[in-house]
Order: sequence, then C-alpha cells, then structure tokens
Amino acid sequence: MITSPRIAIIGAGMSGLCMAMKLQDAGIESYTIYELASDVGGTWRDNTYPGLSCDVPSRFYSYSFQPNPSWTHTFSSGTEIQGYFQRICDERGIRPHIRFNTAVESACYQDGRWRLRTRSGDRTDPVISDVIADVVVTATGVLRIPRYPDIAGLDSFTGPMFHSARWDHSVSLSDKRIGLIGTGSSGVQIITELAGKVRGLTVFQRTAQWVLPMPNRRYSRLIRSILERFPRLNVVYYRLWQTFFERMFGRAVVEPGWRRRVVDAWCRWNLSRVRNPELRRRLTPDYRPMCKRLVMSAGYYRAMQKPGVHLVTEPIDHVEPTGIVTADGRRHELDMIVLATGFEFHAYVRPLELRGENGLTLDEAWANGPRAYRTVAMPGFPNLFMLMGPHSPVGNQSLVLVAESQADYALWWIDQLRRSRIASAAPTVEATAKFNADMKAAMPQTIWVTGCRSWYLGRDGLPELFPWRPERHRELLAEPVLADFDVST
Ligand code: NAP
Repeated sequence: MITSPRIAIIGAGMSGLCMAMKLQDAGIESYTIYELASDVGGTWRDNTYPGLSCDVPSRFYSYSFQPNPSWTHTFSSGTEIQGYFQRICDERGIRPHIRFNTAVESACYQDGRWRLRTRSGDRTDPVISDVIADVVVTATGVLRIPRYPDIAGLDSFTGPMFHSARWDHSVSLSDKRIGLIGTGSSGVQIITELAGKVRGLTVFQRTAQWVLPMPNRRYSRLIRSILERFPRLNVVYYRLWQTFFERMFGRAVVEPGWRRRVVDAWCRWNLSRVRNPELRRRLTPDYRPMCKRLVMSAGYYRAMQKPGVHLVTEPIDHVEPTGIVTADGRRHELDMIVLATGFEFHAYVRPLELRGENGLTLDEAWANGPRAYRTVAMPGFPNLFMLMGPHSPVGNQSLVLVAESQADYALWWIDQLRRSRIASAAPTVEATAKFNADMKAAMPQTIWVTGCRSWYLGRDGLPELFPWRPERHRELLAEPVLADFDVST
C-alpha cells in the first residue's frame, strides 16, 4: 500500500490541469506537474494567431465539473479559452504544484518506481535533477510540435516567416502582402480573420477543404447573467451541445448512414454560395466531407471572395528571398509568409524518452506505430497513464471530456495503490493486442479511410483515431478490467 503516492504529471495544458483537479477532488495533494513553458494552457498558450478560436462550442469545450457562465460566444476566442485555464489553475490552487520551465527529458521504470530526469533553468547552464515518482501521467497534448514544410528555398525568404503556432506579434500585418501556406483549421481561421484587412493575402492551397458553416453567436449580457445566477442551466447547455456533437459528428465519422448525408449536403450547400464558378471549382474537394478533419467556419468562403485575397492551387515549386514560385513558373511577390502547415501528430509524448520494465523503450514498444491499451496505458510501462494517448477520440469532439474519462481511469488505479496491496499495474500484451485488433477491424467503417490524405492516418495508412462512438470510449474506461492487467503486490 502506498498511502501517499508521488504522482508526476507531465504537461500543464488542458489535460494536465484536469488530472490535477481530479486528484485534488480525491484528496490527493502529492502530485507535481512538470511544465516546459512558463505558463499553463498548452495549445491555447502556444497558439495566438489572429482569428484563433475553438471549433467545439465553448460550453462543451469546458470541464464538465467546472462550467464557465461567462463565455462570450458559441465558439469563444483562444484568448478567452486560455483565460479560462489560467483562472481555474489559480482558483483551484494548482499553481504551487507546477514546476514551470522544466522539461522532463526521460522517465525510466526501475525497481518498482519511475525515475524522471528533469532539466530546468537557463539553456546554457541548465539544472538537471532526478525525481522519483510512483505514478507518471503524461499530459503532453496531441498537436504540440509544429510541422514545417519541406519546400526548396524556404530558408532563403528574407521577410518575416513563422508557423501558425508560433505567431510573431511584433510584425505589423496591415501593410503586408502575406502568403499563407495551408488550409486546415488553423489556416482557415487566419484567412477568415485577415481577409480584407491586409495589403494582400495569397492562399496556397494544396488540398481543398470541406467547410461546415457553424454560426458563431454572441451571448448577450442577459444570457450570461442568467447562467451565472442559475448554474444548473450551464449543465443543461453542456449536455445539449454534447448530445448534438456526439450524436451528429461523433457518429457520422464512424458509421455510414444518414448523418454523413446531412453533413455532406450542409457542406455542399455552403460551397454553392461561392458565386464565381471558377473559384468554386478550385475550392471543391475531391474526397468526402469529414475524411479530413472537418473545418468549421461560417465566414471562410466570404473571406475568400474579398478583394485582395488570391487563391493559388498550383503546387509550390520553391521559395525565393521575396516570394513563392509555383510549378507553372509564376512568381508571387510577398512580404511575409505564414506556415499553417500543421503538427507532428505521431509524436505523442516524444521527444520525452520513456523506458519501461527491463529497459523497454517507447520506440521499441511503438515500432509498428503508437499503440495503447484503451488509449491510456501500455504493456511494459507500469503505473504510467497517458492522457490523449494513441487512438483517443479526437475527431471534431471535445477533448476535454476525453481527458476527463482518461484522468478518472488513472485515478481509479492511483486509488488502488493507496487502498489495496497493489503496488503496480500495466495492461497485458494480449489485452492490448486484442483492443488494437478490434480497432483495426472497425476502421473500414470510418469515413477517414474513404480516400484522402490527412494527419489522422498513421504510417500504415490506418487512422490513429478511435473508430467507435464517443460513448464507447467512456464505457471502455468506466471500470478497469482487472483481468486485462499484470498486477504486482
Ligand atoms: P492541418 O489540418 O494539418 O493542415 C495543414 C495544412 O497545411 C493542410 O492544408 C496541408 O495540405 C498544408 N500543407 C502541409 N504541408 C504543406 C506543403 N509542404 N505545401 C503545401 N501545403 C502544405 O493543420 P492545422 O490547420 O494546424 O490543424 C491541425 C489540427 O489542429 C486540426 O485538424 C484541428 O484538430 C486542430 N485545430 C483545431 C482548431 C479548433 O478550432 N479547435 C483550430 C486550429 C487547429 P494537405 O491538406 O494537402 O495536407
């Protein structure tokens, strides 16, 4: 029995804070969060680009146990979301548990405990420390490491150039001819915000996107004060959005049927509102809606039709000091380039070096791609739990709710350590293999394999997403199956 288990949480983003609150609510204060940066918030701290918002309604993209009656919009801005996490961190007294500016470089399981090597302080004169933990919870996020495109001559560009997740706010925008590469969720939000406000906006589109026009309404003061006064109404609101998102998109992506036809018709109707037939043709994808992550934007097509916005669909050939040259030989003069080119989705917890029992490394365990038991644990890595681990249900769903289920699951095991003779637990190889085989069998039903290139797909061409309804994920994590675990006392 470990009455006061030492718990190391890696990352103080949405899921790390979720784990911390779950532990606090269970009366456990023996946890430390290691955070690479100097503030909480993860993706909402790192992404600050113009137009940033969440495409899951804010009422639903909140902790179910920590509603926020003050959201100003259906889809609130990134700044507001970051404010929500910062406020919660302070209100719940989590900050003293966080070691900021501290990277966990490695975590090795030895003699029944985890030894973490941390690096903090100055880059030139870092402080290296070893920390012992009974339980490790990785909360390192899904889309964390920016992906830079491999385009010839990119480094030769002389104007400002940065990734969408590393926005340089010292650069003025209104006087610039901006080239934007990438039309995923980030690119679309940036375009919608900047169109018509800058000297020129040239959009380099490799693949057209399906766009669903979800309206973004402002909550009136009256509505906000009613929600403050009657907190139960927040719960009702949350459940309504949850029901809509899970029943509509959550099912449409994993089950063929009428929902796919509805989303399909909705997206096609939206596209039909592009008046210029040539522009409409170039904005028309050649795959089915939701095969790639569905982009939500009510204003994107309007933005693309504004004066000063140019769509380029010719592939990029190379970059020169003052512009981009496309394969047709055309030179696009630019003052600034934004790379909205996505993230290294397959990294998961890496570059953190994980070593489990008998020296098993993460790279060895994941030689055939990232695999986990029910998205949260791994054979050979006892007392290690992953929030947003491989195959978590991330497609157009609220990751906050996903993190809550995974944190509850980790907490269940932590409670076993405190209350029973169990000293460590890791899922068996067989149970993990069965879970992954079941997922593989379900993949052909999903929309993600219907013929498109997306960050959802792993190196084997199979989606690294959860192929069943979101409810199933909660059911799978509701109560641990002891027979699926190797337990030591
Ligand atoms: P993304 O969806 O991966 O899109 C990257 C874009 O860059 C794609 O259009 C891609 O084209 C293009 N691209 C990549 N390399 C290129 C190259 N060498 N040349 C030309 N084009 C290139 O990335 P993202 O837009 O940052 O979004 C990633 C995910 O973050 C989203 O799917 C979503 O889950 C999340 N996100 C969410 C929100 C939100 O509101 N909740 C906002 C932003 C992001 P191809 O399509 O041809 O690959």
